[in-house]
Amino acid sequence: MPPVDCRCWLAPPADREHSRMLDRIDPFAFKFQFKNVEYSSGRNKTFLCYLVDQGNTADGLLKGYLEDEHTGCHAEEAFFTHCLPHNDPALKYTITWYVSSSPCSACAEKIAEVLKARKNIKLTIFAARLFEWEEAEIQAGLRILHAAGCKLRVMKPLDFSYTWETFVENEEQPFNLWEDCKENYEYYHEKLAEIIQ
Ligand SMILES: [Zn+2]
Repeated sequence: MPPVDCRCWLAPPADREHSRMLDRIDPFAFKFQFKNVEYSSGRNKTFLCYLVDQGNTADGLLKGYLEDEHTGCHAEEAFFTHCLPHNDPALKYTITWYVSSSPCSACAEKIAEVLKARKNIKLTIFAARLFEWEEAEIQAGLRILHAAGCKLRVMKPLDFSYTWETFVENEEQPFNLWEDCKENYEYYHEKLAEIIQ
C-alpha cells in the first residue's frame, strides 16, 4: 500500500452522539471491537474504517473511520451521508471498508441501492465477523449486496495487521494477533462462501 493522505471529517455537532469521526481508533477499542470471536457479546457498535480512491492521484486516498451505537444511525449509512455526500458522476470511486461486523439487513439493502444508483462506485467490504449470520434475513441481505456488485470478504490475519497500522493510534507498537484469529477467519470465510455462493 502506498502512503496515503490522512484526512478526517468532522460531523456536525448534532450527529456526534451517534456517529463520531475521529482520526485514529483507540487501540483497546480496536482489539475489543474487531476481535473475530464467534460470540461477540458486549460488542454493540460497528467500527467502519474506509479508504476512498477517487481515481484522481492529486487528491490521494481519503481515509478515516466511523463508529456508531446500534441505537443511532448505523456506520454504513453514516458513511454515505457524511463521508461521501456528493457523487461526481465523472469520477470513479473505489471504496474499501474494514468493518468490525458485516452489515445488518437494513444496511445491506441501503448499500445495494447506492451501488445500483451510482454505477461509478466499486465497494469492497472486509468484515472481521459475520453479524447474526444464521438469520435468514441477514443472509438475504448479504446476497442482495453480493448481487449488487459489492465484494464481500472476511478479514484475514493480514487484514487485521493492515487495519492496525493504518487506522489505529498504535504508537508504533506491532500488532499481536489474538489466539484463534486464523481459525476464526477460516470459519467465517467458509460461512460467507456458503451464504453468497
Ligand atoms: Zn446496519
